[in-house]
Amino acid sequence: MTDKLVRNEAPFIGVNRHRIGVDGEGVTTLAAFHGCPLRCRYCLNPACLDADAPVRSFTPESLYRQLQIDDLYFVATGGGVCFGGGEPLLRPEFIRQFHECCTGRWKITVETSLNVPLPSLQTVAPLTNDFIVDIKDANDGIYTAYTGKSNAQVWENLKWLAAHYDRAHVILRTPIIPEFNTEKDVERSVLMINDLGFEKIDRFTYRTSQSGTQSS
Ligand code: SF4
Repeated sequence: MTDKLVRNEAPFIGVNRHRIGVDGEGVTTLAAFHGCPLRCRYCLNPACLDADAPVRSFTPESLYRQLQIDDLYFVATGGGVCFGGGEPLLRPEFIRQFHECCTGRWKITVETSLNVPLPSLQTVAPLTNDFIVDIKDANDGIYTAYTGKSNAQVWENLKWLAAHYDRAHVILRTPIIPEFNTEKDVERSVLMINDLGFEKIDRFTYRTSQSGTQSS
């Protein structure tokens, strides 16, 4: 086994401090992992897909030490760390070990596509305060055309989350994706999500290259 595996080191494309109102409650730091199973046409963070992108490696302990500089902000505002990327649920063991370092002092938010094996979600859910789930579109044809992968796993995981997690702590993003879906498609996605008992929906429109891109 390599030293990296022993130390559970993971690559990050960025660590952004002092975020307010975008990644959950209070002051948060976004820790963005490198790597994602999807290939979204309008990906905001193409660096996370680029094998040659510059990355910074952390172990759970070294990331915790790095983020401690904002401990007072996190505790005073009820904030903490948002794991994004890329796809944080490709690194469930890293997040579990990071949570052990925090000992519950900081809130943990996970921003995910949920297009990962169910056991990864099951590892992370008990220690996550809030999920932000990037549904994209519930229609598998639209989803596959946009991301290059089926959303069957997303819905399996979403059903598990509905049954085993506090749905009030899940925000689901259902964007209009220019050239891929319509307002009607978004309505259908929202109905399917509501059927599972989720009510916190974030609707917005991806902006394409003419006006700047907004994606997960
Ligand atoms: S937009 Fe998000 S889910 Fe899609 S490829 Fe980029 S990082 Fe992955």
